[in-house]
Amino acid sequence: MKKYVLALDQGTTSSRCIIFDMETGVAISNFSKEFKQIFPQDGWVEHDPFDILETQIYSAKSAIKKSGISVEDIAAIGITNQRETSIIWDKSTGKPVYNAIVWQCRRTAKYCDELKSGNMSDIIKSKTGLIPDSYFSATKIKWILENVPSAAEKAKAGELMFGTVDSWLIYNLTGGKVHATDLSNASRTMLFNINTLEWDTDLLDFMNIPRSIMPEVHQSCDLYGYTDRSIFGIELPIAGVAGDQQAALFGQCCFNAGEVKNTYGTGGFMLMNTGEKPVYSDNGLLTTIAWGLDGKVYYALEGSTFICGAAVQWLRDGMKMFEKASQSEALAASVTDCGGVYFVPAFVGLGAPYWDPYARGLIIGITRSTNQGHIARAVLESMAYQTLDVLKIMEKESGIKMSSLFVDGGASANDLLMSFQADILNIPIVRPSYVETTAYGAASLAALCVGIIKSTEDLKNLIKSKKIFKPSMSHEERHKKIHKWNEAVKRSMGWAI
Ligand code: ADP
Repeated sequence: MKKYVLALDQGTTSSRCIIFDMETGVAISNFSKEFKQIFPQDGWVEHDPFDILETQIYSAKSAIKKSGISVEDIAAIGITNQRETSIIWDKSTGKPVYNAIVWQCRRTAKYCDELKSGNMSDIIKSKTGLIPDSYFSATKIKWILENVPSAAEKAKAGELMFGTVDSWLIYNLTGGKVHATDLSNASRTMLFNINTLEWDTDLLDFMNIPRSIMPEVHQSCDLYGYTDRSIFGIELPIAGVAGDQQAALFGQCCFNAGEVKNTYGTGGFMLMNTGEKPVYSDNGLLTTIAWGLDGKVYYALEGSTFICGAAVQWLRDGMKMFEKASQSEALAASVTDCGGVYFVPAFVGLGAPYWDPYARGLIIGITRSTNQGHIARAVLESMAYQTLDVLKIMEKESGIKMSSLFVDGGASANDLLMSFQADILNIPIVRPSYVETTAYGAASLAALCVGIIKSTEDLKNLIKSKKIFKPSMSHEERHKKIHKWNEAVKRSMGWAI
């Protein structure tokens, strides 16, 4: 039986492909290619959809070449992608009518403020689990239809197709035969009803978006179609699809309600599997679909922090404290503790649970004996405190007490940070030896679909080595530190008004 799975990991700045031997769960080849970021105006972010497609195919072919295996050895393809980014293309030519509008793009922020001030917030939340925001696809689609000449008429006439990046890749890889997305990606459009599991006609009508442009919604673990022979020389099944954060949750084997993963990337993303029921938040967490598998739908609560590893980047590039992010660990370890210094990374305001756009970054507690080590330590520790803040709301809203936290992302490589995280949360932190959990999650979904893997239990057994960081801080010390952090946050708020 064939055992290799090609995971296409289409990210915001690069398209990556990792080939996994799914009998062992080991990555045998990896290739990634960056592509152009387009900033037409302040706050606007776009990608050329063909750049996305071409770099993704190039990465896939390069990863195959590098691996030494032949295409015939590949059992299936799994896709994971930057979420929410929206593309609309012409059904007859396959050409996009406009660039991809990227999740980060704020062009529809004003319209979203109007939605929020009206009574749409509650309706949108109850139907989609989301908070009206330009981050999600709906208002990006609306913008294209309203601003691209004749797009609205063409859409009405059934001549256009909409897709998030997964749909765009599936459509092109299958030679235009399949127009589909998965449940996790659909749940980020702000047009998908996460209870009825259908495109919501009320919301579509409200936004003036014809139902006919929307893709068919599949389970995340499903046979979507086959790649056109012109791409890899043979037809390969596309058998698993999920948005990046959900794929990471799956890749971390968080299959049970209450299991949580936290990604320490540029920003921080925490997702908790809440099982087969959506849990709604009163504190600004998002309710989203984790994945559809075996005819069942699993939900997740999602909380994000804007600045996570980005604070370490700031120490590197802005403060010139070191050349590589990984050196932050040695610098922080040059002192025994933070020396009373606290750092609040509110560079762009604060998200959950504070939601203060006017908060700004702060360093407090500086004395004559403060040195770079203390500052570096305070920066790393701030990532752990922010994680604590989001985790506490998740526990409260889900009613589930966390017993451990699964971690991944660039900064999770920092042992000092992970030990401190265990101390502050007072639960063990579990870091897999392989932290490319996003691509691995997509590969796992595809492997399940084509039968290389028989069950989620088998996937758990594949994870061989992981490092566990156990808490060792006293109750008193933990509480003292958390109290100081809370005080520092208070002082950072409302600054930029
Ligand atoms: P993204 O996918 O968001 O680009 P990554 O998961 O690649 O992010 O993580 C990169 C981030 O992690 C950067 O912001 C970087 O500063 C931070 N980072 C990387 N390695 C370390 C480390 N050893 N210690 C602390 N931060 C790190």
